[in-house]
Amino acid sequence: MVVLETNGLVKDFGGFIAINDVTFSLEKGQKHAIIGPNGAGKTTFFNLITGHLKPSQGTVEFEGREITGMPPHQIVRLGLARSFQRINIFPRMTVYENIQTALIAKDHKHFSLFTPAATQNRKETRDLLDLVGLNKEMAEIAGELSYGKQKQLELAISLAENPSILLLDEPTAGMSPQETSDAIQLVDEIASSRGLTLLFTEHDMSVVFGIADRISVLHHGELIASGLPDEVRNNKEVRRVYLGEADDAAA
Ligand code: ADP
Ligand code: MG
Repeated sequence: MVVLETNGLVKDFGGFIAINDVTFSLEKGQKHAIIGPNGAGKTTFFNLITGHLKPSQGTVEFEGREITGMPPHQIVRLGLARSFQRINIFPRMTVYENIQTALIAKDHKHFSLFTPAATQNRKETRDLLDLVGLNKEMAEIAGELSYGKQKQLELAISLAENPSILLLDEPTAGMSPQETSDAIQLVDEIASSRGLTLLFTEHDMSVVFGIADRISVLHHGELIASGLPDEVRNNKEVRRVYLGEADDAAA
């Protein structure tokens, strides 16, 4: 079942075509990686899907409903959450407060004069801390966590939306090899246990081929391949433009 679809998507930044006629579909339960060299258009593509940018042409459909041009907060509410390439947390709040705030924002609850903030969403906050393995750190100031733990926190914040699709933009960027492997295992487990559909960009090919069950390749804003990992790995054009194989002419 297709849960997310783009048709003829184009993003023109004042004459520079960052996304060029991209028709793409994501199926329920997939762990789908978008790969491509720096500047290929991966982040732009995500921004078009999540409403952070408006397409110049084309449409985006989520669960059969057109969401093109909808504002980001509305798209999130439909069940499409994302994390950003750069860390997006409240650095001065504690880990606990970051998650709690995300839950409160989702429920449109306001801090009530009569309910102390600390008691709101207590169980859900604890559950998310458990899920991402940040129990021990819950009272720590978020901005003082290690980079890997900040990314774990960011994941918990995204999950607070209770999404059906999670978009992760370079989730392991800046991580050490150990942090990378922990983060990947975590995302993989959570996606499987929650039946989440994952769409992620990633520069580390061992991560990509380790968890993705579908891979799409962007090159200069165009989708040049989409398929099973083995199909993509063996795709001639992909090898030529991206996977670092010297092309025949040069060999
Ligand atoms: P990736 O995430 O694959 O590295 P991006 O989507 O960030 O690539 O960028 C794709 C191209 O679009 C790059 O050449 C980038 O400079 C350009 N670009 C991205 N955002 C903007 C913008 N707001 N205005 C103009 N050009 C942009
Ligand atoms: Mg990017």
